Amino acid sequence: MVDFPPPPAPPQDLVRRLARIVGADNVLASDLDRFVYARDRAPFGTYRLREGRLPEGWPGVVVRPADVEEVAAVLRLAAELRVPVVPYGAGSGVLGGAASLGGEIVVDLKRLSGIIEIDAVDQTVSVAAGMNGALFEEELRRSGFTCGHLPQSLAMSTVGGWVACRGAGQASSRYGKIEDMVLGLEVVLPDGRLLDIRPQARRSTGPDLAGVFVGSEGTLGVVVSATLRIWPLPAARRNFAIGFDSLEGGLDCLRRMMQAGLRPAVVRLYDAAESAARTHALAEADRGLFLCLLSFEGAERIVAAEEAEALELIGSAGGRRVADAPFHEWEAVRYQSYSPQHQAAGRFMDTIEVTLPWHALPEGYGRLKAAAQRIAPGAHFGAHWSHVYPDGACQYMTLRLDPAPLEEGEALHRAVWDAVERECVAMGGAIAHHHGIGLLRGRWMELEHGSAGLDVLAAVKRAIDPLGIMNPGKLGLTAAANARSANHG
Ligand SMILES: Cc1cc2nc3c(=O)[nH]c(=O)nc-3n(C[C@H](O)[C@H](O)[C@H](O)COP(=O)(O)OP(=O)(O)OC[C@H]3O[C@@H](n4cnc5c(N)ncnc54)[C@H](O)[C@@H]3O)c2cc1C
Repeated sequence: MVDFPPPPAPPQDLVRRLARIVGADNVLASDLDRFVYARDRAPFGTYRLREGRLPEGWPGVVVRPADVEEVAAVLRLAAELRVPVVPYGAGSGVLGGAASLGGEIVVDLKRLSGIIEIDAVDQTVSVAAGMNGALFEEELRRSGFTCGHLPQSLAMSTVGGWVACRGAGQASSRYGKIEDMVLGLEVVLPDGRLLDIRPQARRSTGPDLAGVFVGSEGTLGVVVSATLRIWPLPAARRNFAIGFDSLEGGLDCLRRMMQAGLRPAVVRLYDAAESAARTHALAEADRGLFLCLLSFEGAERIVAAEEAEALELIGSAGGRRVADAPFHEWEAVRYQSYSPQHQAAGRFMDTIEVTLPWHALPEGYGRLKAAAQRIAPGAHFGAHWSHVYPDGACQYMTLRLDPAPLEEGEALHRAVWDAVERECVAMGGAIAHHHGIGLLRGRWMELEHGSAGLDVLAAVKRAIDPLGIMNPGKLGLTAAANARSANHG
């Protein structure tokens, strides 16, 4: 079934004025272009598409500025005409943060690309915000460094998107999350002014200004460049796989590792469902174990010491080393996405990542699984823990619901989200660990922050963006957004 009619054409006056700023070639106003930029990787947009339905919201026009001045001029024009703006990195967000609600100027930042400077003494890099993540990391490695921010979506995301979503890479337990790496930011504010937060190891000059923009998902301005910490490429690396008899033993071991000061570059503990899919290459006796992948990297002697300490903790937690094959298999596909194959099969599928304190685990695992399966009995539920801290961990859950008619499947999918997010907060967890809020999660922001907390965020938004033109409807900052988020993704 195909949904028509197509959306109205963009106003010609707006197109002409934007073309004067960025050049006619960099104003995309055809139906096809606007269709391409209407959504991100949130699954709800894909469900519509596979049914032959058009996106619900279409941007008015897409622009591709070349530099900071052009970004500023576009925002000034948007403010003058009161047209909403959606900053757009690579559109890999999975919560609808870059999705259109209708009529916006989408500012595609990919032409703001390239490393501006590497400071090998301070070990910092300044990079334009639209740079593709994989190209950025590749160029750093050619200079002997790594940023250490390696999301699964490395090749399909931008540095600005990492900052805007407050992301976390697969090596986060060693190198930190993006907020641990950001030392400075340049942000074009909604009135077109440039805010330059100069890079500094630390400062005691009031609340952290960069922190206001890290995780702001395009609702406060456009990040045009960032200065990040970088690290020398590791001299040594030890990759291995562990099997635990029980999930409790595995989780307890990860907690004790982090509390002992170990910093694994990769740590991935899988529940029974996810372990079963990854242990086929192991000896028969090891196949029923809870699989954990580990990697330590850095200077040779430190890595050797970390490995020895880890193996001791693993032994005392009832774990044992198994063949390394599952590690290598994961490494070979670490930047690939599996959702297209399930989407193509007509399933309703999603990943939900939350943070739980250690004291809520492992019962919290069972409670979230039960919450999801109460709503969708028989649905596939798998989980792993791959971002761990001395005080808690990210529980990353994969859900797959059977094929169903669109409205029915979407309703069930939304109900599962609601049950999981509510149960998570009831256990003292956070509703999002690293994918952000976007459109879909807006309705649980008050549950997360409380009404006073959400009021503070909304007041910050009003102060920085009094016209409300920056990515309206995202981050759960308005009642209208929450109403929309109840039936959109
Ligand atoms: C298969 C897959 C795997 C993923 N794995 C991970 C993972 O391991 N870790 C992780 O953290 N995330 C992951 N994600 C989610 C997503 O890739 C990240 O959130 C990523 O940081 C988004 O970057 P982007 O450039 O694609 O941003 P977009 O999707 O284009 O935008 C995301 C949000 O940021 C805003 N934005 C983008 N650029 C700017 C800017 N320069 N200034 C202001 N606002 C901006 C947008 O308006 C939007 O609200 C994954 C996604 C997929 C599809």
